[in-house]
Amino acid sequence: MPELPEVETVRRGLTPAMEGAVIARAQVNRPDLRWPFPERMADRLTGAKVLQLRRRSKYILADLSTEETLLIHLGMSGRMLVSGDPLGQFVHDHPAAEKHDHVVFDMENGARVTFNDPRRFGAMDLLDTATAEQHPLLVQIGPEPLGNLFTEAHLVERLKPRNTPIKSALLDQKIVAGLGNIYVCEALFRAGIHPARRTRNIASARIATLVPIIREVLRDAIEAGGSSLKDFRQADGELGYFQHSFDVYGREGEPCRSLDCDATIQRVVQSGRSSFYCPSCQR
Ligand SMILES: [Zn+2]
Repeated sequence: MPELPEVETVRRGLTPAMEGAVIARAQVNRPDLRWPFPERMADRLTGAKVLQLRRRSKYILADLSTEETLLIHLGMSGRMLVSGDPLGQFVHDHPAAEKHDHVVFDMENGARVTFNDPRRFGAMDLLDTATAEQHPLLVQIGPEPLGNLFTEAHLVERLKPRNTPIKSALLDQKIVAGLGNIYVCEALFRAGIHPARRTRNIASARIATLVPIIREVLRDAIEAGGSSLKDFRQADGELGYFQHSFDVYGREGEPCRSLDCDATIQRVVQSGRSSFYCPSCQR
């Protein structure tokens, strides 16, 4: 499932194909994904210019010249593919249509952007740009972890009064936007905090250290995604899924990577999801 760095990588990969470009033709091949598509979606998109491609949490938002904003969510298995030759950046031939190509945008600049989603947990919607942030999917979301509103004071204030495991608290999208299982595990490892530790029992100073660490974990992953974009011009044009090495995530039974630590990485299930941690480094 794509997390924030993967979505940000998709956004960056789509930008040369879509930003500043006109959608010459939108093809919508089914009535719905996770939810029904908005009425007349293809008509409303055709002829629109993409003014700006931005990201909020795990949503990509394309602000259009029609004063509407296209919201794209990749869901569990959604992929964006870019083919054609926008601005000379990409040289992939238009691939033959595949079974799960649900939405296809042909841009005036020659690029084709295809949304493929076998499991159909993804979503697209059209919102009024002026009130986009009030959309039910967006209105309750907390500050962006890489933005200025995600401060040490904010995190301490939101976590300290609670008595929930720190892992669950950091997955709460109302506290911080877009963090998922993988990057919460990685951030807690770098902070030396056990994922089951109750927020009330963590000193404020330790909670505060999570802010720069969360930013660092995400920036490292976005950087790895950026490297994958350079490679993908020679690859198949698929955006967003890249190889990235983790310190704890997916490493149960393997040695801890901290210097002077002999412990092995453990896995525990919390609220139905696996947490990976080092029992020696994380307290
Ligand atoms: Zn360790």
